Amino acid sequence: MRIVVPAGGIGGARFLRGLQAALGVGAEPTGTDPAITVIGNTGDDITLFGLRICPDLDTVMYTLGGGINEEQGWGRAAESFTVKEELAAYGMQPTWFGLGDRDTATHIVRAQMMAAGYPLSAVTAALCDRWRPGVRLLPMTDDRVETHVVVDDEPGGRRAIHFQEWWIRYRAALPAREITGIGAEDAAPAPGVLEAIDEADAVLLPPSNPVVSIGSVLAVPGIREALERTTVVGVSPIIGDAPVRGMADACLKAIGVETSAQAVAEHYGPALLDGWLVDKADEHTHVDGVAVRSLPLYMSDPEATAAIARAALDLAAQLKGQPS
Ligand code: GDP
Ligand code: CA
Repeated sequence: MRIVVPAGGIGGARFLRGLQAALGVGAEPTGTDPAITVIGNTGDDITLFGLRICPDLDTVMYTLGGGINEEQGWGRAAESFTVKEELAAYGMQPTWFGLGDRDTATHIVRAQMMAAGYPLSAVTAALCDRWRPGVRLLPMTDDRVETHVVVDDEPGGRRAIHFQEWWIRYRAALPAREITGIGAEDAAPAPGVLEAIDEADAVLLPPSNPVVSIGSVLAVPGIREALERTTVVGVSPIIGDAPVRGMADACLKAIGVETSAQAVAEHYGPALLDGWLVDKADEHTHVDGVAVRSLPLYMSDPEATAAIARAALDLAAQLKGQPS
């Protein structure tokens, strides 16, 4: 069984843990070919203090590798912030990014390898040698793509800020006029991405942010087209017209999509989506050309999350063979 999962950070990583449980896979000995390939969003990546930071790749790596701060959902467990405090004491900007000491070591390794000329995909593989996430973790692209958000600026003007600044510093409270992936148009899928999709038995879209996580992956030329050729089942990140946690509604609003399970499925569209899982609260959902099933979609514990993954796998198996 080969499953491909385009994923963001927290929502993606939690779902992946459930998928591993559903498939009975996890940390595997070196040399084995993992059943799950993750295509990680890199649109959130940012360079700070000379370090390249890849929040979504790291969240997946730490979560599946057992190093995540479970309560927070991002960053390392047992983290301290001495480096951050020292940088602030030098007056270094920005101060709004939560850079932990343990986490910083990851970014130093990455910065050093990238300065030596290694592509992000090779760096990610090297970092995963330590964490053994039990999945093949590929960045969506080795090229630099950065999501920027266009916000209002005084007087009557507009400016683009990095997605992280909008999300973390402003908590997505500044109305977003536009969300754009700078560099996306010229990016190429990372080595192995298109092959993994073409060889997959199914592609599952986890409940990641549909705009800035899954949307960024889909914006890399070639990836959406490859997904349209295969069986894709998505898990709605919206339950009862609300994002379960986080601020996904602010992103949807920026691109003119209503915050509902139905609108997100219509936004992905029937060419991409074959199946769509919605919560019981949204069982009325109907999307032309997409098979909709309803079940409890809260990833409240590992068992509940595994049940969602199992339902996605079952629906994909059912739909496979039908024209996609
Ligand atoms: P990322 O997009 O994977 O980086 O992770 P985020 O945590 O930023 O976004 C995940 C999205 O999934 C959120 O915007 C929520 O709308 C949604 N979400 C979070 N928790 C759950 C859950 O338990 N069940 C479902 N169905 N969706 C969730
Ligand atoms: Ca399809």
